[in-house]
Amino acid sequence: MSKHDAFRPDRRSVLRDGGMLAVLSVVASAASRKALAATSDAARSFAGEIAPGVYAHHGHVAEYTPENEGDIANAGFIVGRDAVAVIDTGGSARVGARLRDSIRSATDLPIRYVINTHMHPDHVFGNAAFEADQPAFVGHHKLARGLSARAERYIAINKEALGEDVFAGTKIVLPTLAIDAPTTLDLGGRTIVLEPQKTAHTDNDLTVRDNETGTVFLGDLVFSEHVPTLDGSILGWQAVLDTLMQAPAQRVVPGHGPVSMPWPDAAKPIQRYLAVLIDEIRVLIKENRSLSEATTTVGLSEKDAWKLFQDYHVRNVSAAFAELEWE
Ligand SMILES: [Zn+2]
Repeated sequence: MSKHDAFRPDRRSVLRDGGMLAVLSVVASAASRKALAATSDAARSFAGEIAPGVYAHHGHVAEYTPENEGDIANAGFIVGRDAVAVIDTGGSARVGARLRDSIRSATDLPIRYVINTHMHPDHVFGNAAFEADQPAFVGHHKLARGLSARAERYIAINKEALGEDVFAGTKIVLPTLAIDAPTTLDLGGRTIVLEPQKTAHTDNDLTVRDNETGTVFLGDLVFSEHVPTLDGSILGWQAVLDTLMQAPAQRVVPGHGPVSMPWPDAAKPIQRYLAVLIDEIRVLIKENRSLSEATTTVGLSEKDAWKLFQDYHVRNVSAAFAELEWE
């Protein structure tokens, strides 16, 4: 046996080892295919198609916890022939990244618009996950002011609730395109209409209508299951809902609750909740009763109709009382 031969493997071992490598590589690629499939299944199921080209994600009906990573609000996206528009981004960069993955499992088209329905962290804190796409960040013309003024507090509270790790990468990304009148955006063969609303849930609520399917993203102008939270004007909210309810839609996506609801039926429970608060508070004010009495007596008939009632209802009554006192 020559020196050279000593280093030359025999044909049988080549076959055997080669065979083994082939088997290993089949196993490995099956495993990675499986992993990829699992990832894209997860990405796909993160947001479901509720109408052709319209996708929505169902956030948990909950408060911020490290376990839910701030995934507590609905979000969605609309796919046109040329581009994608995202509507809300979830409550942390992590949630935004998952939404982005689900967009990428549906289409490779550029993400041209990231629209925020209003300033609350559970709707805007995922924006950072889309910065690399260089979209226009779009919001009500009062969004930038409202969000900037609250930025420090929003970050502190939510970092505390999620923990440093889960919160990592989350930051405020302000709008680059301010909407102060109804505005049509073209996604290619498909247009969406953005309408800035008067002060209601907040002073910067924006609705998004997909003309193609008659789907309207309402942000937190409509809550379902999750008790409404008032951070604007209770009378304004009632008026905005009255107006919106006149405009037909095939379906709406509320900010919290089921991702596809019939219209205007979806607004009826929240209309009732707001009316109960307004009516009962007005009676108390007329009788010169105090705010503290209001917080213990007003709206208790609504208690079993909503989740998280204990977390937000008293705050709603206080805010509504302060507003209605000045009528
Ligand atoms: Zn909100």
